[in-house]
Amino acid sequence: MNIILLGPPGAGKGTQARYLVDTRNMIQLSTGDMLREAKDSGTEMGKVVADVMARGDLVTDEIVIGLIREKLEGDKAGGFIFDGFPRTLAQADALAELLEEKGETLDAVIEMQVDDAALVSRITGRSTCGDCGEVYHDQTKPWPADGKCSVCGGTNQKRRADDNEDSLKQRLMEYYKKTSPLIGYYYAKGQLSSVDGLGEIDGVRAAIAGILDA
Ligand code: ADP
Repeated sequence: MNIILLGPPGAGKGTQARYLVDTRNMIQLSTGDMLREAKDSGTEMGKVVADVMARGDLVTDEIVIGLIREKLEGDKAGGFIFDGFPRTLAQADALAELLEEKGETLDAVIEMQVDDAALVSRITGRSTCGDCGEVYHDQTKPWPADGKCSVCGGTNQKRRADDNEDSLKQRLMEYYKKTSPLIGYYYAKGQLSSVDGLGEIDGVRAAIAGILDA
């Protein structure tokens, strides 16, 4: 089963994707994570995308489609979760073609709905464990006082360079201009389901499970 998690920055796509990886043996394909890895490893492509990402702009379709194409060549386990991809109509068309080439289907597109006010507070307080990827939030789930990640014991707390108010404004603008049209696109294709992303993490998990198991 292959699915897309669609929603603005901070909607909780990454959190839900991690859970699906753990419980359904799916493979998370996060273009944001792939681009951050490229940036950290200092490759040519990483240098090109670093400023674009820090500003909150979108990286070119060509680059991200190339990244996804490579990953589709590998193991598909329980299926792919596309997280943060597609983000433009051109990417959506490219994904449809890639899946068709591989004889794969797109089984669900899950839109996670959250209002903008919640996004600002979610994102500006966010940090993650650099070792295991666990997500923390200054108000709702603070990094443990002993300095150690509660999951893996690592001490490498990370904040993203683009998790600040200015970049977030630009990321939201990009989302509304370029990504939100995908909601209509997938609705028209009969593939869209929506969940309320504002509730508790467990409630959102249950809503997503309801869609996947329907
Ligand atoms: P978020 O959903 O929190 O904004 P991501 O980690 O998905 O964060 O993406 C971070 C940044 O990486 C984006 O702001 C953009 O610059 C770049 N990026 C990620 N995925 C794509 C994509 N599919 N197309 C273009 N740019 C992307």
